[in-house]
Amino acid sequence: MTITAPAAATISRSAPALQSSAAAGFTTRQVHAGAVPDGAHGARVTPVHLSAGFVFDSFEHARERFAGEDEGYVYTRNGNPTTEEVERRIADLEGGAEAILVASGQAATASALLGIVQAGDRVLSSRRLYEGNRGLLVQNFGRLGIGVDFVDDAGDLEEWERRIGPDTRVLFGEPIPNPKNDLLDVPALAAIAHRHGLPFVVDNTLATPYLLRPIEHGADVVVHSTSKFLAGHGAALGGVIVDAGTFDWGARPALFPHLNQAERAFDGHSWAEQRGRSAFVSYTRDIVVSRLGPTPSPLNSFLLRQGIETLSLRVERHSSNALAVARFLERQSEVVSVDYSGLESSPSFALAQRLLPRGQGSVFSFTVAGGEAGAAAFTDAVELFSHMTHLGDVRSLVLHPASTTHAGRTPAERAAAGIHPGLLRLSIGIEDVDDLLRDLDRGLAAVRALTEKARA
Ligand SMILES: *Cc1c(COP(=O)(O)O)cnc(C)c1O
Repeated sequence: MTITAPAAATISRSAPALQSSAAAGFTTRQVHAGAVPDGAHGARVTPVHLSAGFVFDSFEHARERFAGEDEGYVYTRNGNPTTEEVERRIADLEGGAEAILVASGQAATASALLGIVQAGDRVLSSRRLYEGNRGLLVQNFGRLGIGVDFVDDAGDLEEWERRIGPDTRVLFGEPIPNPKNDLLDVPALAAIAHRHGLPFVVDNTLATPYLLRPIEHGADVVVHSTSKFLAGHGAALGGVIVDAGTFDWGARPALFPHLNQAERAFDGHSWAEQRGRSAFVSYTRDIVVSRLGPTPSPLNSFLLRQGIETLSLRVERHSSNALAVARFLERQSEVVSVDYSGLESSPSFALAQRLLPRGQGSVFSFTVAGGEAGAAAFTDAVELFSHMTHLGDVRSLVLHPASTTHAGRTPAERAAAGIHPGLLRLSIGIEDVDDLLRDLDRGLAAVRALTEKARA
């Protein structure tokens, strides 16, 4: 049986993103950027190409595809039309040159850093990290012989500079740290990294490209857990690596030997010589991600794209709801403190106004009276807030870090990270804010009952 794939039906991998994309606004681009019309059936929404592999037209065609002379698809671990449309869209929204979609946020951070460092190298990171990122650096990278140095006070630029050593290869941080909202000065850190010939990798999950585009502030690589705000629906895990396409990987060859040594596949040229400023993203796609294999399902790529199309609308609502909730909590006598960079009382307020003028996101923490018992009473009393470990969902969520995500840390480590027994992390959803305030009132009434009982 002969199966012919009509040439017109194949989607070109190099098809241009939205025409005149640069001129279009964010919300237009989140709906259109990177979309390619379906030549086979005219489907308006790019279908889920749920296929492991793609057929070759002929013996010669297979040879051309493998040689890279024909740009079509071969196997979904190396590229898939549904996934690549989402890659083009996210690259456009972040202002990057190219993106690689992977199966989770953890896979994105791991793959991006493994595209830069090797045994003997060191990562310099803010200590204010998502627990999964911290564990990856300390435990997994530690076993591979990759070291990590933490900056204790991420707001102290001199400490960052001081901790850069001869083996440091990359700076890493999260602009909106979870859960304390003590923002990173992204442009200042990018400038420090570049002064030392190093790239700056940023986990932008909590800000999203709608609130912050780290590349515009000098970052070289942006990673996301797309499981959070980018998807928004809380239905599918995913991650993405976005490369700015501006870092010169060949300027100091000794720092990145894997990108600067002769490769047989390139007739003795290196990745840096062959791919220029795309050396990192090409290497990470072809050598790191396609070999380690954290390939997203095309179905999850499709679900992610459905979410991205409403990103700006959701994040505006998330942010305005969060600000209203933070202001409400700050006025309550059962609340000891609120850590939200949108509040004038936050040490990060000035930085937030400069870096996040469109809104400050919706993941933050607050501390109730009564310590852990107060936090427990609050959590068990709320009805609308879902009690779970997830962020950036359309639904509002609550979690007690000290007994869950940070339970493996010692009390002293938790105290140093500002994770007090009464601290609760919120991820504010897009519900009607009055309903959220009513639910918070329910939680605070339970805290009040508890503290009154203790006093009696
Ligand atoms: C959730 C999260 C991750 C990990 O992402 P997964 O998709 O759960 O693997 C990484 N960084 C941040 C900031 C996160 O919130």
